[in-house]
Amino acid sequence: MSEFAFDLNEDQKALRDWIHGFAADVIRPAAAEWDEREETPWPVIQEAAKIGLYSLDFYAQQFFDPTGLGIPMAMEELFWGDAGIALSIVGTGLAAVGVLANGTEEQIGTWIPQMYGDADDVKVAAFCSSEPDAGSDVAAMRTRAVYDEAADEWVLNGTKTWATNGGIANVHVVVAVVDPELGSKGHASFIIPPDTPGLAQGQKFKKHGIRASHTAEVVLDGVRVPGHCLLGGKEKLDERLARARERAKKGGERVKNAAMATFEASRPAVAAQAVGIARAAYEVALDYAKTRVQFGRPIIDNQGVAFQLADMRTQVDAARLLVWRASWMAASGKPFDSAEGSMSKLHAGETAKSVTAQAMQILGGNGYTREYPVERMHRDAAIYSIFEGTSEIQRLVIARTISGTTIR
Ligand SMILES: Cc1cc2nc3c(=O)[nH]c(=O)nc-3n(C[C@H](O)[C@H](O)[C@H](O)COP(=O)(O)OP(=O)(O)OC[C@H]3O[C@@H](n4cnc5c(N)ncnc54)[C@H](O)[C@@H]3O)c2cc1C
Repeated sequence: MSEFAFDLNEDQKALRDWIHGFAADVIRPAAAEWDEREETPWPVIQEAAKIGLYSLDFYAQQFFDPTGLGIPMAMEELFWGDAGIALSIVGTGLAAVGVLANGTEEQIGTWIPQMYGDADDVKVAAFCSSEPDAGSDVAAMRTRAVYDEAADEWVLNGTKTWATNGGIANVHVVVAVVDPELGSKGHASFIIPPDTPGLAQGQKFKKHGIRASHTAEVVLDGVRVPGHCLLGGKEKLDERLARARERAKKGGERVKNAAMATFEASRPAVAAQAVGIARAAYEVALDYAKTRVQFGRPIIDNQGVAFQLADMRTQVDAARLLVWRASWMAASGKPFDSAEGSMSKLHAGETAKSVTAQAMQILGGNGYTREYPVERMHRDAAIYSIFEGTSEIQRLVIARTISGTTIR
């Protein structure tokens, strides 16, 4: 277990500076263009792959950082560059975490490299859990996976929505119902290998923000995958389902389901993305306030503006501290007894929304135009109270955890 300290070691500083350099030199200059194009920025992903930033190795190295700070630092710097492009770079990670959380060693070794491809032929991956009628209410999921014992294949049918990289991914990780009687405890995750017949992209969404990140429906029509594509394997699934049926008979105690395990592991990392956006907007506003002159003095000379910047900076730093605490706890194997992962996501998401809104205000008319980046940052920030669990759902998780009561 690592002692918690605020002094970054030399390796961590070097990592932060390296990623910051990429964010400043490659991501930021490309941000406005890819936001307007509303397309996946493949050339930027390729640049990230060339320097080893878009790779399994990079994440594996950070995974073994005993302080747990490598991933949040990387996220903050990348999203400081631009959220839409950065999400295109890190979106594959959600699918990879889905495999890491539920897969066998063999599945991890087989599928995660195919999610990333290599620098000459980059690929992306998608994690598909949400459905049109099952967003926050994961238990309402309808996509069905049925085992064809004779062929040792699983057959999947249903429609997934809001999937980051959905339809353009090389590998899709799909959560489906294997036992409808068990609600969310009857779910399992499946790998859909590249070019599997029956999987098609549905509508691609035109979004308010993070427009360089591809978001689409994924339609599964009689998709057949080999038995070994069930994450964790059939034996483990059968044992888990048997336990859940026993619990259901006895009146049921709560157990984690496949999608929830993925979300829990990724929440502080997503929160760190929001910190990056908030910090970026704060920095633009601070610079602007020092140089914009009205009434014969820089606008920062007014307490009304300076105090707002003081609050913005305080909020950003507070959000980062919650993220670092949750990341350190996860790396140290400490349980989130007070839903510390959800706390970090809630606070960082709300901070990103409020700090980017305040930054627009400080830039006045300029802040409202696409000539300055805070308008884009404000649009991008809005997703952080929606995806990976809305702010209301984070509050529900925290409230239930601290109270031990099934608050509705
Ligand atoms: C850009 C984008 C990318 C995404 N990427 C992915 C992805 O890669 N994979 C994936 O599986 N999903 C993804 N999602 C889906 C995302 O996780 C869902 O949108 C989110 O979980 C909310 O679900 P919903 O949109 O159906 O909203 P709903 O669940 O319908 O919620 C609507 C509103 O009701 C509130 N609400 C619902 N239930 C309660 C309650 N019990 N108490 C209080 N308030 C409540 C919510 O907080 C929200 O404000 C993405 C979404 C977007 C927009």
